Amino acid sequence: MKILISGGGLAGLTLAYWLDKYGFTPVVIEQSNGLRRDGYGIDFFGSGYDVAERMGLIEPLQARPIKAEYVGYVNEDGNLIAKLDIALMRKIMDGRYLPLMHRTLEETLYQAIADKVEVRFGCSLTAITQTPDTVTATFDDGRREAFDLLIGADGIHSRTRSLVFGPESEFAHYLGYYVACYSLPDHYHIGRAWQNYTEPGRQVGAYCSDRAGELITLFMWEAPDEGHVPRAERLPRLRTAFDGMGWITPQLLADAPDESIFMDTVTQIKMTQWHNGRVALVGDACGCMTLISGQGASMALGGAYILAEALRQNEDYAAAFRVYQNQVRPEIEARQTKARDFAKAFVPGSELGLKVQKVIMKLLLRDAFKGVLRQQFSGDSILRRALKRLPASRGASLGYVVNGKLRDADYRTLSLDVADALAMHDEVNLLLQIESLQGIEWQALWDDARFGREYGGSIQKLAVVGDQRWSDWLAKSARPFYARQSRHFPENELDTAWAWLRK
Ligand SMILES: Cc1cc2nc3c(=O)[nH]c(=O)nc-3n(C[C@H](O)[C@H](O)[C@H](O)COP(=O)(O)OP(=O)(O)OC[C@H]3O[C@@H](n4cnc5c(N)ncnc54)[C@H](O)[C@@H]3O)c2cc1C
Repeated sequence: MKILISGGGLAGLTLAYWLDKYGFTPVVIEQSNGLRRDGYGIDFFGSGYDVAERMGLIEPLQARPIKAEYVGYVNEDGNLIAKLDIALMRKIMDGRYLPLMHRTLEETLYQAIADKVEVRFGCSLTAITQTPDTVTATFDDGRREAFDLLIGADGIHSRTRSLVFGPESEFAHYLGYYVACYSLPDHYHIGRAWQNYTEPGRQVGAYCSDRAGELITLFMWEAPDEGHVPRAERLPRLRTAFDGMGWITPQLLADAPDESIFMDTVTQIKMTQWHNGRVALVGDACGCMTLISGQGASMALGGAYILAEALRQNEDYAAAFRVYQNQVRPEIEARQTKARDFAKAFVPGSELGLKVQKVIMKLLLRDAFKGVLRQQFSGDSILRRALKRLPASRGASLGYVVNGKLRDADYRTLSLDVADALAMHDEVNLLLQIESLQGIEWQALWDDARFGREYGGSIQKLAVVGDQRWSDWLAKSARPFYARQSRHFPENELDTAWAWLRK
């Protein structure tokens, strides 16, 4: 199967790696003429870390981390108010955390596919047409080429999305901020640190990169949505927005490069449907969460991995797209909600908000609050979810392994899968293979009751497989609220359970 991937960023390159590994023929097109050399720093953990580990990339990434030893918050004179040690951050994430330059991650992913996958730089799409059997891409040099599938991994301003799903304005949710960054030599003695200074409605950060003597700046400020800012207008815009700002801001702005400034709105992309015919989206293109979530890169890798897995496990590409969307969209939406709620605390709009932020930071950024911080970063990997769909799921019979603590997103996936199956069948059969059930989160308890109320009448058979004492009890208590018939099967009778369901 020949699959065109539009966008050679984090999601596109990861997807290309796994599709190639699973025997597909991916072709990547990337609008830039080569790998990007500029960029910004990212916190890399959770799903992204897990995927990079499965690709054998942790060692090369560990060799090139951002060199900062702490993230500090300073006052106008540059004195530290609060700090988060990178060592604590690593502890919060059980050692599975890397501060990286975005370009370093991209380069490492590219090296993992360079001699296996065709990557066409300086190439982008101008049109897409679909028939029941193919999707035909027209490129900007006028050439046309047919593929089996097309995946849009072309970022927040995705061309694939606008060609197939509709204009960006239909899906964009502006969070009220602009962001900008650029690199320059560290003449400011920031050293091995990531320092931030905040005034109401605006924040400046400066941090060392993974290259000796290089400093990266990060500006974020409240502003009305005026859309894309042309390159020539970026520096004047930045100087106006940060006029009179304390700390080293005037020097950073005086030394800024004229042209190579990254600037964009802080905007989330929300779509209920991530696929249309033979075209699907992945990464920021369908689920941008913004830098405030600190997880766009991680989820780009995670989403790409799950999409490749779904295509491997489902011969029918449409089924694969549904499985992928049902698994990843609830996770993205949960992180989007958190990021939106957190935005105001990230750059407070008033003096009072700033004071509250300082108190909270002084209190929270300590070892004792590891658990709270971990929850705040939502660092759970989507590869380690408590509910995993079994590849043997087909048609009206859906099966899942339960291993861990069930969360809201697990119930959302289950509900979406069942709703999809019910769109094609009158009734659904469910199999739950209980390996270990380590509880249900509060929100998920409510989801559990709601799931029973909504779908219980449509679930014909429920098979509970497993040797835990839970399993038998679950099968008995499921009738009639969750299913009309239910049976318990010992762990070694998985095939019998499937056969009973499908009879
Ligand atoms: C300042 C900043 C800080 C961030 N910090 C973090 C962080 O700490 N942690 C984190 O996890 N995430 C962070 N993110 C978010 C993260 O960088 C993104 O979510 C992630 O890069 C998304 O990956 P992607 O592959 O979907 O898109 P991208 O990485 O944007 O890749 C898209 C690719 O598609 C290419 N492309 C675009 N249009 C076309 C076209 N028409 N044809 C062909 N190619 C095209 C682009 O050139 C690019 O290479 C941050 C983002 C910003 C801006």
